[in-house]
Amino acid sequence: MAKRDFYEILGVSKGAGEDEIKKAYRKLAIKFHPDKNPDDKAAEEKFKEAAEAYEVLSNAEKRQRYDQYGHAGVGGASGQGGGGGYGGGMNMDDIFSQFGDIFGGGFGGGGFGGGGGGRRVNRGSNLRIKVKLNLHEIANGVEKKLKVTKHVACNTCKGSGAKNGNYDTCKICNGTGTQVRVQQTILGAMKTQTTCSSCHGEGKIIKDKCNTCHGDGIVRGEEVISVNIPAGVAEGMQLSMNGKGNAAPRGGVNGDLLILIEEEEHPELKRESNNLIYHLFISFPDAALGTQVEIPTIDGKVKIKIDAGTQGGKMLRLKGKGIPEINGYGKGDLLVDVNIYTPANLSAEEKKLMEGLKTAKNFQPNLNKKEKSFFDRMKEYFE
Ligand SMILES: [Zn+2]
Ligand SMILES: [Zn+2]
Repeated sequence: MAKRDFYEILGVSKGAGEDEIKKAYRKLAIKFHPDKNPDDKAAEEKFKEAAEAYEVLSNAEKRQRYDQYGHAGVGGASGQGGGGGYGGGMNMDDIFSQFGDIFGGGFGGGGFGGGGGGRRVNRGSNLRIKVKLNLHEIANGVEKKLKVTKHVACNTCKGSGAKNGNYDTCKICNGTGTQVRVQQTILGAMKTQTTCSSCHGEGKIIKDKCNTCHGDGIVRGEEVISVNIPAGVAEGMQLSMNGKGNAAPRGGVNGDLLILIEEEEHPELKRESNNLIYHLFISFPDAALGTQVEIPTIDGKVKIKIDAGTQGGKMLRLKGKGIPEINGYGKGDLLVDVNIYTPANLSAEEKKLMEGLKTAKNFQPNLNKKEKSFFDRMKEYFE
């Protein structure tokens, strides 16, 4: 499913300021709030969509990446299958924890009582790893198998933390994990929940702790994760994979895996945005007589023709031989910057040859017609 534009979701312009974005989101959050739209799936989707848009546009760094690279820039890496990166990735807890910021105090943490059942779900932490890619991989996209050391579910207790899977229901909260209060707020009367202090919101107490993980439900482990990196990524971009981060204690929701892109320098080609630049040096006779030279591209060497009479400083453009746009539209070019090599150490014989050329008529720099007429007029002016 194609994701909608975040600005469109919030109904603001691309240039919208912080306050405008906050206001727009506040309006949508109230309109589609689960407390006001019980059992309305469409409203819930809208609620989540607005929260995700706000998450990105309210953060200067994320917003800039989104403006530059679209959804891919803020984690919606293509080719991951499934939910497509972090699409629909914000859960209600994440959303409600934003609310302290939006509505000012009192809403953080426990959140509103929306959406039934208040038992806290543990969440594993996000994991960040760096991936170094060469230009060839960046230009073509690549599948990387990454060995990641992280928290994984304990095998002995299947991640429950309990020996033999035995739990007692928490007597303080009767297993709900929460204590509910009704509170007057700017949105009217709202249920608010506080986390049960006895079971820390889990609703259950472990009878006998698992010997392997000591009741945590997680242990250090390794996983090989296959990541599809789309063509066109750049240094500093971050991709995210839902649920591939650290496992949560006692069977909660996994954190995300954040993949930070690093770019390996190419020995000959320099990247500038999506163009590649190659500094070519040719000899003076080759420039004067014309020649064929081999130049490097991402896909190997190619031969290009240098016309007779090519001037130093000329830029040749090989269309479409650069890096593809990350959104899949268009490609950069390979720019060949032609330099004429001037020899520094000449033998006596070479010197003689050069001396002979020095006064040759066609070796004098020629001004073109336009320049000539300009200088002619200047001359008249000063004489
Ligand atoms: Zn265990
Ligand atoms: Zn409890």
